Amino acid sequence: MIETKTIKKILVSNRGEIAIRVMRTARELGIKTVAIYSDADSTAAHVKYADEAMNVGPAPSAQSYLNMDRIIEVCKELNVDAVHPGYGFLSENSTFAKMVTDNGIIFIGPSPEAIEVMGDKLAAKNAVSKYNVPMVPGVNHAVSDKDEAIEIAREIGYPVLIKASAGGGGKGMRVVEQEEDLAEQMERAMSEAKSAFGNPSVFVEKFITQPRHIEIQIIGDQHGNVVYLFERDCSIQRRHQKVVEEAPSAVLNDAQRKAMGEAAIGVAKSCDYYGAGTVEFIVDENLDFFFLEMNTRLQVEHPVTEEITGKDLVAEQIRVAEGHPLSFKQEELKIQGHALEIRVYAENPRTNFLPDTGKLQTYKLPQGPGVRVDDGYEEGMDIPIYYDPMISKLITYGANREQARLRMLRAIEEYEISGVATTLDFCSFALKHEAFISGKFDTKFVEKYFTPEVLDEADPEKEQIAIALASLLIDQKAHGAQIKNEGLSKWKLRVKD
Ligand code: ADP
Repeated sequence: MIETKTIKKILVSNRGEIAIRVMRTARELGIKTVAIYSDADSTAAHVKYADEAMNVGPAPSAQSYLNMDRIIEVCKELNVDAVHPGYGFLSENSTFAKMVTDNGIIFIGPSPEAIEVMGDKLAAKNAVSKYNVPMVPGVNHAVSDKDEAIEIAREIGYPVLIKASAGGGGKGMRVVEQEEDLAEQMERAMSEAKSAFGNPSVFVEKFITQPRHIEIQIIGDQHGNVVYLFERDCSIQRRHQKVVEEAPSAVLNDAQRKAMGEAAIGVAKSCDYYGAGTVEFIVDENLDFFFLEMNTRLQVEHPVTEEITGKDLVAEQIRVAEGHPLSFKQEELKIQGHALEIRVYAENPRTNFLPDTGKLQTYKLPQGPGVRVDDGYEEGMDIPIYYDPMISKLITYGANREQARLRMLRAIEEYEISGVATTLDFCSFALKHEAFISGKFDTKFVEKYFTPEVLDEADPEKEQIAIALASLLIDQKAHGAQIKNEGLSKWKLRVKD
């Protein structure tokens, strides 16, 4: 029997937009919230939003947002009865999850055991192998002998991918095109894995040349029920990191969606999963799908799923953490409409997406039908150098994909940010691209189509405005008039940096 408990106060062990996102739902449910913050974040928006807030240390995350002992201390001091880890930081740290529960506090997430199994790519492949889940051709044991690796690669065929078992964030992966390069690449991958993760284990799998990245949102309760909330297509990535996401995918049909959903449930069952989680698949050009990994937490891009299902994933996470059964069944879930999300990063697409720091001199949000912004900043705030440079997530919803896309383009136009470079104009480029419009794109979108010059290419509409402006100025000068902006909308005058 699962004992049910009522959560009255949640500490969110995170910062920025996700901390606020979680607190919003908590507030709707009448649950008190506690923020933690580092020295760099004392005036941050998530601190202002929370009912209570505590400093947990200096700016570097290792000394603050990752300081487990201090966070537990705050929980006890403020009588917190649950911790929500958000994403990143301690969200996939099984030691932290265990520390939280050992101290009699509810961890809003899966069991420490599930986090541990899914945190190791090889352990995950092994757990999943007993379920009917398609895997990328390859091996599911650590390989350290070069001759064995050569044997395996011959069997599966080139190109192959050497992957670190403990890998994450795209690190410790090496593509090998031919046998001559295998030994050297393997050595490199192993030493990279050892220095990045303290574990040199690598394995070999088939490299899928033009994959789409499609993931399934699942949620389970502590009574053994697991449902899937359909897919998100996150194929538009830069540096193996997502930048545009959508739900549903433009390419799946209902049968494929169901097959992937059921496979994702198999992955969840393989580790007795409860809470919200995401099962990632790569999908080849024939739309065959293969299990990649499971993320045992709420995902950055969860809002697109919320928009098309009408479900609040954080509310459901809290509900199952309290020990209640899920509030909906698989057959009650339906896809309605289409949602897009773009990640607005303080990054410069003109310099290979290098992070940019500085002050948000202008920061005006888009509004209107079908627009949602999840952010953690206000005008005048600095983007700290210590953390992920994401400013916000801009989400649009429409009755269909085209309406969501047009709304996104309109919202990007309305969004005014100055003081730092952002990914807004890159996202606008991506959403206007023929490959995106037709749905025929893969994870190589940026490599294939994007160069910084495309951002400066003439936009016929803007050109018209420039011509109109120029002739107006000449006219006014000719009449000895002062140059005034009135009569021209802000939109027309704005030049995007
Ligand atoms: P990480 O944990 O480092 O994020 P993943 O296994 O999730 O590693 O892979 C990250 C990205 O690398 C995927 O989104 C996909 O674009 C690419 N990738 C991973 N495995 C393969 C593969 N076998 N073939 C082709 N691309 C792959």
